[in-house]
Amino acid sequence: MRYREPAICLRTVDYSETSQVVHFLTPGAGIVHLLAKGSKRPKSKAGGAIDLTSEGELVFISKASGAMGTLVEFSETVSHLGLRKYREKLFAAMFMLELVSATLLEGDPHPDLFALIHNGLARLDEGDSNSLAVTAYFQWRLLRHVGLSIRIDRCVSCNADLASSQSARAGEVYFNSSLGGLICRDCEPAVVEKKRITPETLAGLDALLAAESGRRTNLPDNQVRGVNHLLAYHIQQQIGKPLHLARHITGPGGQHT
Ligand SMILES: [Zn+2]
Repeated sequence: MRYREPAICLRTVDYSETSQVVHFLTPGAGIVHLLAKGSKRPKSKAGGAIDLTSEGELVFISKASGAMGTLVEFSETVSHLGLRKYREKLFAAMFMLELVSATLLEGDPHPDLFALIHNGLARLDEGDSNSLAVTAYFQWRLLRHVGLSIRIDRCVSCNADLASSQSARAGEVYFNSSLGGLICRDCEPAVVEKKRITPETLAGLDALLAAESGRRTNLPDNQVRGVNHLLAYHIQQQIGKPLHLARHITGPGGQHT
C-alpha cells in the first residue's frame, strides 16, 4: 500500500554504500522503517542522505506484517540543522528521538506524539529555549500519551494527600515506578523499588503539571535536572532497558534525583 504522510526521521542505519534504512515517525502510520535505495547519492529523490530530526513529506510503500517498506520520496521541509551548533540542544533532540523509538511499537499510529515531537524540536530550534526544560516537558507529556503518567498529588499506596503535606515538602517523599507515583514516608519502608525525591524535584514536577494546564511556569536548573533524571528513570523502568542518552539530559554533574 502506498502512503503519503508528514514524517520525522528518528533513526538511520547505513544499508550499503548508497542506501539507508530509515526509521520515520508519521502521524497516520506510526513508526515505519523503510529502505531508502540510493538515498546517499547527492541526486537522489531525498536530495542526499537523510539526517536525524529531518522533517518532511514522505511517500512510501508498506509491506505486510512487519516487513521493511520502501521509501519512494522524501521532501525535506525542516532540517533542524541549527540544533547541531549547540551540544545540549542536539543531545535533547536525539534523546527525544530515542524516547519515541523506545516507547512506541512499530506501526502503532499516535498523532498526538507526532505533534509533541514536532513541537518539541521546533521549540529547541528557538534561540532562547532551555533544552533541559524542553526535554522535561517532553518526557512529562510523552508519559501522559503512552499511559504512564506520574501521580504527584497523593501517595499511590495509601492515598494520603501529598499536595499539602509538610513532610513531602520537607523531602520525606519517594517515587515508585511500578505504581507510577509518589509514596509517603509511612508507606515507604514496605516498598522495595523507590527513589527519594528532593523538594526541588517535587517543585519541578508541580511546575510541569502547571505548565500542562496552560499556566506559565519557570523551571530553574536545580529543579529541571532532578525532574529529567526521575522521568527518564521511570521510562527506563517501564520499558525495561536503558536509554543511551539519558545521562546527557540531567545537565552537568550527572546523577540527580
Ligand atoms: Zn502512603
